[in-house]
Amino acid sequence: MNRFEYATPTTVDQAIAAMNEGAVYKAGGVDLIDRMKEGIDHPTRLVDLHGIVDLRGIKMDDAGLTIGATTTLGELAAHAAVKQSFAALAEAAASAANPQIRNVATCGGNLLQRPRCWYFRTAEFKCLKKGGATCFAQKGENRYHSIFGGGPSYIVHPSTLATALVALGGRIKTNKREIALAEFFTLPSADYEKENVLGEHEIITQILVPRTTARTGFFAIKERQVYDWPLAEVAVALQMDGGKCKAASIVLGAAAPIPWRARKAEQALVGKAITDESARAAGRAAVEGAQPLAKNGYKIPMFEAAVARAILRTGRS
Ligand SMILES: Cc1cc2nc3c(=O)[nH]c(=O)nc-3n(C[C@H](O)[C@H](O)[C@H](O)COP(=O)(O)OP(=O)(O)OC[C@H]3O[C@@H](n4cnc5c(N)ncnc54)[C@H](O)[C@@H]3O)c2cc1C
Ligand code: SF4
Repeated sequence: MNRFEYATPTTVDQAIAAMNEGAVYKAGGVDLIDRMKEGIDHPTRLVDLHGIVDLRGIKMDDAGLTIGATTTLGELAAHAAVKQSFAALAEAAASAANPQIRNVATCGGNLLQRPRCWYFRTAEFKCLKKGGATCFAQKGENRYHSIFGGGPSYIVHPSTLATALVALGGRIKTNKREIALAEFFTLPSADYEKENVLGEHEIITQILVPRTTARTGFFAIKERQVYDWPLAEVAVALQMDGGKCKAASIVLGAAAPIPWRARKAEQALVGKAITDESARAAGRAAVEGAQPLAKNGYKIPMFEAAVARAILRTGRS
């Protein structure tokens, strides 16, 4: 790991002023310090966000939820009002990583963590995303890679929180603007070196989630349920009317380089009661058009089942 300076601002303005060419923001540091130890990133200054009171806390009012960027995943998962009114979000936060990591990892950092692709995470592989000429995963070890939206990079978006937030119509506030998360994350076809449109030195200050009357839920499948990144995850928000689904938002995580809206599944569900049959039909619709790589075809039946399961657990509750 390289030597670096450490800045401890107490306001957003001070944090921005502390940034220079080699500086990066540090929140929980779970992803950033990992990348530094792996020799992928070599920042010359870390600007620690923990001393900034304005970035902390969870508030709920008539408009919805405001989550400070340095709120931890653990705090979000345990918040009684979030569990009550935004179940998908609380369940997603509780599903990410393990209790030790959730106690440190922040919501802002979770959205901005870099991809888990093992070629990206290994300094010796200078792949496309790191300024090289080749995506090694395309024809290499790609069992954890995307089945939708890939090319020329085939990462899956690593943030579990993002999957739920996109399903709930979440937005982020920065020191410069407010933007829907559905527009914030971008495909590699737009810029394969980046995963989002955050500008240089721009800082996420809050995450906003509009109040909802929808039933919401989250479901993930992992190799080790207690610890791992997901193989497949699904967040759903179902607006019900007289026993039938009036509107649906269904988002797949670990499927694509961005949280992936399964629009065909949503269309398949609207106007239907939540039954085994309608949930399975939505599951089948969710994977239409999938483009698996050589080693991740298993994700197609997995997502089909995960979507059906998420709908049944949420719609019948
Ligand atoms: C074993 C293990 C299992 C895991 N499983 C999961 C999982 O299932 N799901 C999941 O989603 N994650 C998982 N993670 C990843 C973990 O949740 C993230 O690394 C963590 O949430 C990152 O948050 P942080 O606060 O530590 O971010 P940091 O590491 O501090 O920052 C991450 C990046 O965001 C930037 N940044 C941070 N905050 C801001 C801000 N407010 N404004 C602008 N830039 C900012 C930093 O500069 C950095 O580039 C796992 C990690 C481990 C080690
Ligand atoms: S999937 Fe993306 S990060 Fe992984 S090797 Fe290909 S270009 Fe690099």
